[in-house]
Amino acid sequence: MSRFQFPIAPETQEESALRQRVRHFLANELKSGGFTPGPDCWVSGVAPDFSRKLGEMGWIGMTWPRQYGGHEQSALHRLVVTEELLVAGAPVAAHWIADRQTGGQLLKFGTEEQKKAILPKMALGRSFSCIGMSEPEAGSDLAAVKTKATRTSSGWKLSGRKVWSTVAHISDYMIVLARTSPAQQRNRHIGLSQFLVDLSLPGVEVSGIRDLAGKTHFNEVLFDDVELKADALLGVEGDGWAQCMGELAMERSGPERFLTTFILLEKTIEAMRDQIPAKVLGDLIARLVTLRTMSRGIAKRIHDGERPDTEAALVKQLGNAYEKHLFSAMRDVIAMKSETEIHSELLSLRDEIQLRLPSHTLRGGTTEILRGVIARQLGIR
Ligand SMILES: Cc1cc2nc3c(=O)[nH]c(=O)nc-3n(C[C@H](O)[C@H](O)[C@H](O)COP(=O)(O)OP(=O)(O)OC[C@H]3O[C@@H](n4cnc5c(N)ncnc54)[C@H](O)[C@@H]3O)c2cc1C
Repeated sequence: MSRFQFPIAPETQEESALRQRVRHFLANELKSGGFTPGPDCWVSGVAPDFSRKLGEMGWIGMTWPRQYGGHEQSALHRLVVTEELLVAGAPVAAHWIADRQTGGQLLKFGTEEQKKAILPKMALGRSFSCIGMSEPEAGSDLAAVKTKATRTSSGWKLSGRKVWSTVAHISDYMIVLARTSPAQQRNRHIGLSQFLVDLSLPGVEVSGIRDLAGKTHFNEVLFDDVELKADALLGVEGDGWAQCMGELAMERSGPERFLTTFILLEKTIEAMRDQIPAKVLGDLIARLVTLRTMSRGIAKRIHDGERPDTEAALVKQLGNAYEKHLFSAMRDVIAMKSETEIHSELLSLRDEIQLRLPSHTLRGGTTEILRGVIARQLGIR
């Protein structure tokens, strides 16, 4: 049996019809000035109003149960929508994490009260959330987190510092990974727990961090003895590591890992079709078809209740490499003409992507860490 499994999941008629509806919606939005396309739109395209429109269309929380505001559709339907939004460069960052991760975590580990109160608002694009894993000294080595939650008579007291928290500045909630008992030398994964933290609580301070391109989409978040209710603990105390690892397939396998720079390909084709060598274009399209097939296969496996974590690491790793390759291929094409002959919008797009590219191989797991995961599955580590 193959070490990696990517079942082929051809697009159904229903999915194709959904794709057409999303395209139609996006074309109208674009025409009426509803958004300006941009690269890396799922991280830096923060537009709560646009998220609300998508919520009204039923395109957030698509896979969640109806009783919590969802639409009970498959992971493949969701993938169709996310692909179209990314290709259009639509500003989807505000709700991306709530839709991709927090919703699923709440469905698995939240209380009935939390699910009823929070999920319907998230599905309408009216409540946003963020991930609180990384800390100044804990990124790749996530088990080194120092943020601490201690029991009190009424719940928990949280103190510590998170960094790089995407969209925390507009979020209502963060799922925080914290230590609830001292690290054990033999296994540092023991004693970690996850908490659903309301970011409006006293003692929480969110401050923006500017990225290389000059945008502020991620943040530093301080917790200064924040009082949490007992039900802020997600699931069982000590289960935090397993909960975090359980999200990885969702986090790493989606089209956001290979479509973030796609807009540059489209715009270069629009402007310089005749200059692009057929071999370059053919190579890019062939790789893209392969990545899409892999991503769809994973969505199918997630829908079937499996956890294809290593396959997801492969998609992220190959997807990041593809985005770099696409960028340098298009940069070379653009360089065939004098810059004075090229529309300034295309040059700005190229420059912005160049500044963003280094972050692609950091967020969601670095190249070295992902290669380690893949090597383990191959039995060579
Ligand atoms: C745009 C962006 C958005 C992000 N959003 C979030 C978010 O919303 N929430 C969140 O919690 N975090 C977020 N992060 C943080 C991200 O998860 C971390 O940057 C990542 O885990 C790497 O951690 P680090 O930055 O501390 O780098 P380090 O872990 O210090 O790594 C630095 C370098 O050392 C290498 N390295 C580290 N350990 C090893 C090893 N054992 N073997 C070989 N090489 C190694 C790495 O591959 C890397 O090249 C975001 C990051 C970015 C760039």
